[in-house]
Amino acid sequence: MEIRNVLVVGAGQMGSGIAQVCAQAGYQVYLNDLQEDIVEKGLDVIRKNLDRQVKKERMTESEKKSILERFIISTDLKDAEQADIAIEAAVENMEIKTRIFETLDQYAPEHAILASNTSSLPITEIAAATKRPGKVIGMHFMNPVPVMKLVEIIRGLATEDEVYQAIENMTKSLSKVPVEVNDFPGFVSNRVLMPMINEAIYTLYEGVATKEAIDEVMKLGMNHPMGPLTLADFIGLDTCLYIMETLHEGFGDDKYRPCPLLRKYVKAGWLGKKAGRGFYMYE
Ligand code: NAD
Repeated sequence: MEIRNVLVVGAGQMGSGIAQVCAQAGYQVYLNDLQEDIVEKGLDVIRKNLDRQVKKERMTESEKKSILERFIISTDLKDAEQADIAIEAAVENMEIKTRIFETLDQYAPEHAILASNTSSLPITEIAAATKRPGKVIGMHFMNPVPVMKLVEIIRGLATEDEVYQAIENMTKSLSKVPVEVNDFPGFVSNRVLMPMINEAIYTLYEGVATKEAIDEVMKLGMNHPMGPLTLADFIGLDTCLYIMETLHEGFGDDKYRPCPLLRKYVKAGWLGKKAGRGFYMYE
C-alpha cells in the first residue's frame, strides 16, 4: 500500500503540525480547512517552525524551500480524490468528524486510508459513517507534533491488518514511534492524562491552591516538564472538555465528570494558548 499524497483535514494546532512532519518526510500534502485564511494561518506557523530550523542550522534554506513547495492549499474535501491517505484533525466533536468522514469516503479513491487524529472518540463509530470501515484507523499524534515522538495507533473493530501495517510504516517514515492501542474512550494517553488535568482544575475550583502553586507542585514534586494547568492551556480547554465528556459518556462513570470551572472557561471563550487566554494569559 504506497502512500504519497496526504490530505490533512483541519489546519489548527494539530493539523498544521501533522502537515509539517508529512511534508518534511517527503509526502505531498493537501492542507484543508473551512476557509483559505485559516489554512494560511496554519502555513504561517509551519514557515516559522522551518525558519527556526534554518536558523539553528538543522536545515538548509533550499531544504525549507522544497518542503514548502510540497503544500497545496485546500478548502474542498473533494481534494480527497488525490489522496492515498486523509488524516483528519478537525475539532473533537463526533458530529463534525462523522460528517467529514462521510464526505472523505465519497471522494477518496478505493485504496485510500481514512485516519483520525481524535484524542478520545471511538474509531469504530467514526468508521461506521463510511462504507470502508476496514480502511479507517486512529492516528493520534501528540502536541507539538514536530517535537513529540509518540503516535498512538488505534485499531477500530474492523481495521484491516494491512491498513495497520501501512500506518505503522508511515509513522516510522515520519521519524515517530508507533504504539498500538485498542479502541476505548481516551485510548491510553488521555484516559490517564485527562482525569489528572481535570482533578488539577478541581483543586483550583475548590481553592486548594493557586494555579501557580498547583503547577509548581506537579512540576517540582512529580518531575512533570510542565504543570497540568499550563498543559491544559497548551492542549486547548475546549479539547480537554470534549475529551472529559467522551470519557464520562463512554464509561458512564462519574469519576470522569468535567469540572464546572472547565465548562465556565470554555463558555467564556478562554480556550487556552490558542485563544490568548486560559488559566494563564498569552501574547
Ligand atoms: P484546533 O482548534 O487548533 O483546530 C481545529 C481546526 O479544525 C480549526 O482550524 C477548524 O477551523 C478546523 N475545522 C473545523 N471543522 C472543520 C471541517 N468541517 N473541515 C475542515 N476543518 C475543520 O484544534 P486542535 O488542537 O488542532 O485539535 C484537532 C484534533 O486533534 C482534535 O480532534 C483534538 O482532539 C486532536 N488532538 C489535539 C491535541 C492537542 O493537544 N490540542 C493532541 C492530540 C490530538
